[in-house]
Amino acid sequence: MFESLQERLGSILNGLTGRGALSEADVSAALREVRRALLEADVALEVVRSFTDKVREKSVGAAVLKSIKPGQMVVKIVHDELVAMLGDEGVAIDLNAPAPVVLMMVGLQGSGKTTTSAKIAKRLTERQGKKVLMASLDTRRPAAQEQLRQLGEQVKVTTLPVVPGQTPVEIARRAEQAGRLGGYDVVILDTAGRTHIDEPLMVEMADIKAAAKPHEVLLVADSLTGQDAVNLARNFDSRVGVTGLILTRMDGDGRGGAALSMRAVTGKPVKLIGVGEKMDALEEFHPKRIADRILG
Ligand code: GDP
Repeated sequence: MFESLQERLGSILNGLTGRGALSEADVSAALREVRRALLEADVALEVVRSFTDKVREKSVGAAVLKSIKPGQMVVKIVHDELVAMLGDEGVAIDLNAPAPVVLMMVGLQGSGKTTTSAKIAKRLTERQGKKVLMASLDTRRPAAQEQLRQLGEQVKVTTLPVVPGQTPVEIARRAEQAGRLGGYDVVILDTAGRTHIDEPLMVEMADIKAAAKPHEVLLVADSLTGQDAVNLARNFDSRVGVTGLILTRMDGDGRGGAALSMRAVTGKPVKLIGVGEKMDALEEFHPKRIADRILG
């Protein structure tokens, strides 16, 4: 991920640092290239525009252009703006609430929601010593409920037994109750997905949210879907309200645009990234490290 962007930006910025003096026109020309590279990496247009505007504003001041190493100062400005665009600091899942803390996972079918639920459960159990309960709210697909049960077994985390005929809202309430009575720290609700956003899905998510009062609503999105993932996040956030984003398949060969623009478009932090199918393939999202990687 980000390799081609890294290559493109690297050579544009090397062109700047290799020179002793810089004019406003030099900076503008480089920024046009930066803009093209970001658009090719599938970063959202509005994000690219605001990014290059900010870099231009900060770069063309006399202090920068007349400095001893203007190119290096421009590169630093690009770096800092990249970090600002990605969200200054990594933001962890917030468990700061009375137990059981309810985490509601939302997203489209196939985005990696069930896998990610189990990965998070494993992580919280192993690294933070939490007692976690998972529940599948996908009443339309018995296979999804079975998948969560199997993953639960694999990561040694309890799943709520399935009671046939219950609605997602009823399951959510039962999960919360089981969490409370069973002394669980965290309850993860793996909601149903669809192949695309539709009204019944949004209504179902809103109903579950109203009933379960989750402390976090985490949208799981496939990073390989690029701008679709960004639009999805915008949609889910305006209809259901999300508190954080999780991008899966960051191990794939996507261009990285979704990861780069999601925070800026939604204002919500990318909390975790999925980097493979294995249960340990989940990482925190560190904006600064990613900016360092992109700028080499
Ligand atoms: P759901 O329908 O949203 O619950 O999606 P699943 O959790 O069933 O995931 C769909 C497929 O994507 C499964 O084969 C997962 O193993 C795979 N998957 C999930 N996250 C990742 C990831 O970060 N990287 C890769 N390579 N595959 C993933």
